[in-house]
Amino acid sequence: MHGCVVKPRHSRAYDRRLCSLRPVPATPSPMIPPFAGQADASATPPAAPDGAPDGPARAWQTPVGGLPGVRPALAEKAHSLGLATVGDLLTHIPSRYEHYDEAQNVADVVTGQEATVRVELASIRVVPTRRRKLVVVRASVFDATGRLEAVWFNQRHLLRLLTPGDTLMLRGVVEAGAPRQMKVKAHEVLGSGRSAGLHTQGLVPVYPASEALPTARIRELVDLARPWARFAPEALPTAVRHEHGLMSAADATVGIHFPRSQGEADQARRRLVVEEFLVLVTGLMAIRQAEAAEQRGLALAPTGAIGEPVRGALAFRLTADQERALEEISADMASGRPMRRLIQGEVGSGKTLVAVLAMCQAVEAGAQAAILVPTETLAEQHLGTLDRLLGPLGRMDLMPVLLTGKVPAAERRRRLTDLAGGTRRIAIGTQALLSEGVDFHELGLVVVDEQHRFGVHQRHALSERARSSGGRSAHILYMTATPIPRTLALTAFGDLVVSTIHGRPHGTGQTVTRWLTGDDRDEAYAEIRAQVRDGRQAYVICPLVNEGESESKAATAEYEMLRAGPLASVRLGLVHGAMKADEKRAAMDDFAAGRTDVLVATTVVEVGIDVPNATVMLIEGAERFGLAQLHQLRGRVGRGGHPGLCLVVADELTDEGQRRLEAFTQTNDGFRLAELDLRLRGEGAVLGLRQSGMTDLRYARLARDTDELELAARVAAGLLCDDPHLQHPAHGPLRAAVRRRFADIPRLLHA
Ligand code: ADP
Ligand code: MG
Repeated sequence: MHGCVVKPRHSRAYDRRLCSLRPVPATPSPMIPPFAGQADASATPPAAPDGAPDGPARAWQTPVGGLPGVRPALAEKAHSLGLATVGDLLTHIPSRYEHYDEAQNVADVVTGQEATVRVELASIRVVPTRRRKLVVVRASVFDATGRLEAVWFNQRHLLRLLTPGDTLMLRGVVEAGAPRQMKVKAHEVLGSGRSAGLHTQGLVPVYPASEALPTARIRELVDLARPWARFAPEALPTAVRHEHGLMSAADATVGIHFPRSQGEADQARRRLVVEEFLVLVTGLMAIRQAEAAEQRGLALAPTGAIGEPVRGALAFRLTADQERALEEISADMASGRPMRRLIQGEVGSGKTLVAVLAMCQAVEAGAQAAILVPTETLAEQHLGTLDRLLGPLGRMDLMPVLLTGKVPAAERRRRLTDLAGGTRRIAIGTQALLSEGVDFHELGLVVVDEQHRFGVHQRHALSERARSSGGRSAHILYMTATPIPRTLALTAFGDLVVSTIHGRPHGTGQTVTRWLTGDDRDEAYAEIRAQVRDGRQAYVICPLVNEGESESKAATAEYEMLRAGPLASVRLGLVHGAMKADEKRAAMDDFAAGRTDVLVATTVVEVGIDVPNATVMLIEGAERFGLAQLHQLRGRVGRGGHPGLCLVVADELTDEGQRRLEAFTQTNDGFRLAELDLRLRGEGAVLGLRQSGMTDLRYARLARDTDELELAARVAAGLLCDDPHLQHPAHGPLRAAVRRRFADIPRLLHA
């Protein structure tokens, strides 16, 4: 592939963004040793599937029951494990390999060691034991150098399976005796049509299996399917494979199941991972590209008429990161192409202010702006912020319209009329804000707060819905307070452009975290009482409960306990998920206004509560929270000028929990914690992304395969830069694979 030249016909900003990800052209790719092409050398290729042009794809669909010698009962079992076709089998990759050595002469096997031998069966019998349930099968076996007694437990069926005269491969530990005996761990009969040494010699693959279909059966099925490996669908363009030293899909398929060395297995896996990532990332980038190209956006240029006075009234200056994020947003909104941007920044980093200033820009340009939030509490809070910032301008049209479930019908109708008529310019609401029946006069910007669990399909749907009356697509700004590791940003949010706000305006590292055991709890209560005496406030966070238990009940119990004892001297509030919305609000308001000193809460406070006077947080049962969540919680304190103190109490700790809490007490860096959380708990856990579908990866693991992902991202950007719709014939298979992966987004990569 040639170097990146931004061609005039792709001179749009999004193309530049894509292209800027391209690799420095001259870097030579590390060469891997050439592969002998195991797939091409396969012994018994299956009958060419009808010679039809779609033959390879059809061959891959061959049912498992159609493999030679597979009985219906076995096919049925495979089916129930999701292995219905040859393709399913060949993409069911080993979780690891047993490293067995080559077969030895019986005489050479060292007593006490595990070994593989190739022997002939002389005789086989069941020997009686005292324990009724225990069946011991013994066989006398030999080779040219000596004799062994092979022993199996509870495998009576071997009597039917093995016949004197059979040549066997046996793997097991050889023990002293006359003759010596081998406790057989794996065995196979040679000449049964299977590859010799399949279970007993060299690198033996171990598969995710079930009781009904153990790993050895899967191994045999995969071995039977091996000749089909040459029909492995290939999505990587040949040029990409050559440039980056990646083997063919066919070779990787053989190499992952039947590697001749660990190196070959690693290269095979790497190649499968790169392809998997490439399909995902290309799709996400193509969505981004298509939304920018196919949808016309409103060009909303800033006039400063609203933004300037709002900024002028602030008691502080924006941080450099805030300014940069705002400039990026501002340029996006003025561009005439729909913005799809994510701002990530920790709790308290000042995202909300940036979003409000972006809304000002939309309104200045004559459009309307809406902010979507996941909870009513957060809606109320944003209402407060907007009132505070915009109220002083004294403009009726800037008074935010609140639309939540609890607004009475008549009032709701009135508010909807105001929005449709354009007399009100700003709306706040939950998801329902963009449902049918809500019309805007000219919707210019949608801010989506704390909805990082949205999957790409939901984002795409939102993007389709968020249209202004003129059919132009509104700009969309997503905000998340969970720092996103780069691998997740590329895979889960690859359809968005990301702005990052680092740290907090007041400086990070101000909150000190201490880890207490249950015995030190009194110390924690004493600290809370002392800070309350100084005029500060505190949170007590209740542990997550087990499934089926009630979080709210647990919180109420905690509250009663504290009120009766350790915190009897302070004014206590309580908030939990089962409370009615207005009760919740009253509890939050009381706390925000300083009418209560300590708020006992479940994780409902995780999302977006801002009480600058709160300085202490006690987190009970900290071992139950993930790192990202702990960090979010901690972000609630130390937001004013006063230093924060976070006290975590954890008793029942696993090793992993121990490591998590150690990291948590040692760093305030949300990005480092997020990376660690990813490694410790896996991708689904970090952002609750499991439901987003972006982490349904067959081969790849985000915490491990960072390099492969970076490579895939560079390749994807390069391909889309040269060939935005992947129309070049060489890119056809990749395009098809992307369209299959993103089948819910029908017009993707249509020219
Ligand atoms: P986030 O939405 O990222 O959690 P907010 O925008 O709510 O953060 O900001 C947290 C607090 O910091 C608010 O009280 C806000 O007024 C204040 N703040 C925002 N930007 C700055 C700044 N540049 N300097 C000082 N305080 C700021
Ligand atoms: Mg916020």
